[in-house]
Amino acid sequence: MSTIDRWTLPADRVPEAWFNVVPHLPAPLQPPLHPATRQPVGPDDLAPLFPMALIGQEVTAEPWVDVPGEVLDVLRTWRPTPLVRARRLEQALGTPARIYFKDESVSPAGSHKPNTAVPQAFYNKQEGVTRLATETGAGQWGSALSLACALFDLECKVYMVRSSYEHKPYRRVMIETWGGSVVPSPVDDPAHPGSLGNAISDAVRDAAQRADTHYALGSVLNHVLLHQTVIGLEAKEQLALAGEDLPDVVIGSCGGGSNLAGIALPFVPDAGVRLMAVEPSSCPTLTSGRFDYDFGDTAGMTPLLAMYTLGHDFVPPPIHAGGLRYHGDAPIVSNLVQAGRMEAVAYPQGKVFEAAVQFARTQGSIPAPETAHAIRAAVDEALLAKEEGAERVILFSYSGHGLLDLAAYDDYLNDRLDR
Ligand SMILES: *Cc1c(COP(=O)(O)O)cnc(C)c1O
Repeated sequence: MSTIDRWTLPADRVPEAWFNVVPHLPAPLQPPLHPATRQPVGPDDLAPLFPMALIGQEVTAEPWVDVPGEVLDVLRTWRPTPLVRARRLEQALGTPARIYFKDESVSPAGSHKPNTAVPQAFYNKQEGVTRLATETGAGQWGSALSLACALFDLECKVYMVRSSYEHKPYRRVMIETWGGSVVPSPVDDPAHPGSLGNAISDAVRDAAQRADTHYALGSVLNHVLLHQTVIGLEAKEQLALAGEDLPDVVIGSCGGGSNLAGIALPFVPDAGVRLMAVEPSSCPTLTSGRFDYDFGDTAGMTPLLAMYTLGHDFVPPPIHAGGLRYHGDAPIVSNLVQAGRMEAVAYPQGKVFEAAVQFARTQGSIPAPETAHAIRAAVDEALLAKEEGAERVILFSYSGHGLLDLAAYDDYLNDRLDR
């Protein structure tokens, strides 16, 4: 007997509208506040940084937002991404649970991040902007934006957290291969290892000072989460092809919250579906942070966002999941967690890599350390289902591959990892 464990959709099934969760949120979103006046920010405050189309998406209450044809054309070069059943992992765990993952690692940059890099580059190009500035931690977002800028013929300037710039050269090389330029951050303090908050300050300062330049953010903001909903929309259709109704639980690793939101937000209206954020215990924003207005960056230049935060000057320890080292979280994700619609768990990186290696040795693919957080939680859900003797459908976002993170695996396998 043979089985099918992979569901694909034809290129013309990439969703033609993004799903806006805002009308479905349990409580109204609190508006971003101006950093100086502490009054709600208006479109004019944001215009030096973002194109009007994205500012509109940031505040829209429309239930669906059309995806422009030019954006669809690019997304269709790798989307729809496969939905895969992790049957070999299930068998190794001896669980009655059925584990599915949405494989976002097949994009050119190797993660979900191009899903928003492409529309952000497109809308900026359409508004006549010629240059984008951004930050990047381990380089996943910087490489995704550099790719999108190459496709829409924009200049791209990336401020990269210094410790990654020095120790993780390959995503820097990707950024440069796609034509972007990249410098270590903070730019004014060569002895500082850097943080995402500092790099955001550098990029915002760059964009604010130049008329030809806008700023692009890879996570956190409402429009970024909106763009990522293609993940969950496709997954719903593919789960139906796999003969499933709704999943029991949807899981995503959470740095700023974009891949988690991408897979989870389309399930918010489905009341029985549990939604779960997974974060590192060394940067436990949702599980130990406070819900408050805080800056998105270290220097206090961005609007204040209502979110779970560890404080904008928090510098997380240098774990390998660089994409999860952010002091805050998306206001939408924070809203769902505060209202009890979404759960959050935190894991230390030793437990995370244990699950990553088990996944690689059963399913084959080597996940990004960020992605491995979601795998850890999926494995624990599957083991819980085994204990309870319950059939359960688990869906998680395979947000990226780990082929540029092999130094981290080397550390884990040779017992050099900070657990
Ligand atoms: C950036 C990244 C994340 C975390 O960022 P979110 O905005 O929370 O999704 C997770 N996985 C991978 C592979 C990433 O590159």
